[in-house]
Amino acid sequence: MNNCIFCKIARGEIPCHKVYEDKEILAFLDINAHALGHTVVIPKFHAVTIFNLSDEIVEKLIVAIKNTMDRIQKILEPDGFNVGWNHNPAGGQVVPHLHVHIFPRYNNDGGGSMHSIIKNPGNKSVDEVAKLFK
Ligand code: 5GP
Ligand code: ZN
Repeated sequence: MNNCIFCKIARGEIPCHKVYEDKEILAFLDINAHALGHTVVIPKFHAVTIFNLSDEIVEKLIVAIKNTMDRIQKILEPDGFNVGWNHNPAGGQVVPHLHVHIFPRYNNDGGGSMHSIIKNPGNKSVDEVAKLFK
């Protein structure tokens, strides 16, 4: 997509600091690091969310995430990771090209867990929600 900043990075029109790359996937350092080695992993073609990816590419994305974490582990030796993505503006997505955030975590780095993203369970009990999935 012409105007997409991550498509431009994938095409090499905007520079980035590569962490990992293969045929379909690129991982590079986030320009506004929230952790030492904060990296984003993207498909090289435009896709807004995971729903726009084939299962085949999702598999390749997961493998690329693992390979990226492996590189970070060897070079920065973090004590842990948080890995995930913001899906749509309601989920905090700003750049509308799917990107998976990798936050390397270090003992006593002051960060939280996935559970610190939200604590608003809504107006249905877990049992009521479970019934909707039956
Ligand atoms: P979102 O909120 O959409 O999940 O996150 C977008 C991320 O992309 C942010 O963490 C932001 O710092 C990063 N980002 C935005 N523009 C650029 C850029 O031009 N280069 C790099 N390396 N990261 C960017
Ligand atoms: Zn794009």
